[in-house]
This record gives sequence, C-alpha cells and structure tokens, in this order.
Amino acid sequence: MQLLKDRILKDGIVKPGNILKVDSFLNHQMDITLINEIGKEFKRRFSDCPITKILTIEASGIGIACITAQYFNVPVVFAKKAQSLNLDGEMYITKIESFTHKKVYDVILSKKFLGPDDHVLLIDDFLANGCALLGLIDIVRESGATLEGAGIVIEKGFQKGGQQIRDMGIRLESLAIIDSMSDNSLVFRD
Ligand code: 5GP
Repeated sequence: MQLLKDRILKDGIVKPGNILKVDSFLNHQMDITLINEIGKEFKRRFSDCPITKILTIEASGIGIACITAQYFNVPVVFAKKAQSLNLDGEMYITKIESFTHKKVYDVILSKKFLGPDDHVLLIDDFLANGCALLGLIDIVRESGATLEGAGIVIEKGFQKGGQQIRDMGIRLESLAIIDSMSDNSLVFRD
C-alpha cells in the first residue's frame, strides 16, 4: 500500500533492537485519515471472505480493528492481557510473548464472544516473530471458529513470523513488508 509505505519512510524511526517507531501516526498518535484508508484496503483484500468478527489484541490493534470493522460491518473483539487468572472455564486462554516488552502474558477472551459459527479476520499493527498472531490463532482454534485470514499493517519480513504463518496455510495480507532496516535505510518488499 503505497500511501502507507510513503508515510513509514517520512515519519517512521528505526530504533535499536529492530524496532520501528510509528507512534506519530499509527500506534500512539493515530492518523485517522490514513487508518481509514488502511481499513478500506483490508476490506478490499478480504472482500471475498464471509467475515463475522474481527479479532485483535490490546492495545495498539484495537483502533485499527475498529476502523476496519466499519467496512465489514461486524463487531470487534479484542484479547485482553491478564496478569493473574481466575480459571473459571468461561475464557479462552493463551500465552503471548511480547516482542517490544520481552514479557510473557496470559491473554484471555470471553467464550461469549467467539464460537463455531464465526468467521474471523485477525488484525494487528505489527508482525515480527509472530507470537501475538499465533496466540490469536490459538484462540480461534480453541473456539471452533473459522479463521479466514490475518491483516497486518506492517510486517517485518526479516523476522520469522510472516513465513511461519504463511507456512501454516493461513492467508496473511500485510500492507507493508519491510525486508531490511537500519538507521539510514528502509527497504520494502515489492
Ligand atoms: P510479534 O508477536 O509478531 O513478535 O510482535 C508483534 C507485536 O509486537 C505487535 O502487536 C506490536 O505491538 C509489537 N511490535 C513488534 N515489532 C514492533 C516494532 O518494530 N515496532 C512497534 N512499534 N511495535 C512492534
């Protein structure tokens, strides 16, 4: 998506540890005009899928998922990061290791909001090693819902997540894939 790539080149900042900061337009301050175009693009790419629900993970996926959901006319449900758990059987539970915070979280979703009749589109801001997405895939599998695919705003193609998820046969659409980045260069996949 050219508009997104141009914006990453203009305002993205490469930080040590392979972190790309896009907090001026995507995941802290949010440029709604841009995110609106992102939502439209996800709809275009998944227009053949009978999506009934968009699933994301708190926090930075939520805004993007909400704007995208307006184009699909479906609810958003987000997995919550929980520090301690009451295992009462009412929740789907999985573990996710945070790439940015180097911490393992339990992630939960109420069973009320996802079940076998659902067709799910996963949405997130970044794909790096794939832990966040694999956790969400785990939850979808546990629920018996159909996984239609995953829409990612920025995939860091030099980390293993994208390949791993495509190898699982999951339809993955990333709007910008970065093949390499350093202080003074950022290379996108065509
Ligand atoms: P993964 O689980 O695929 O390793 O990482 C995905 C999650 O880590 C995303 O939800 C995102 O919040 C965060 N993340 C991974 N890489 C980056 C990055 O380069 N920049 C930012 N801002 N967040 C990232």
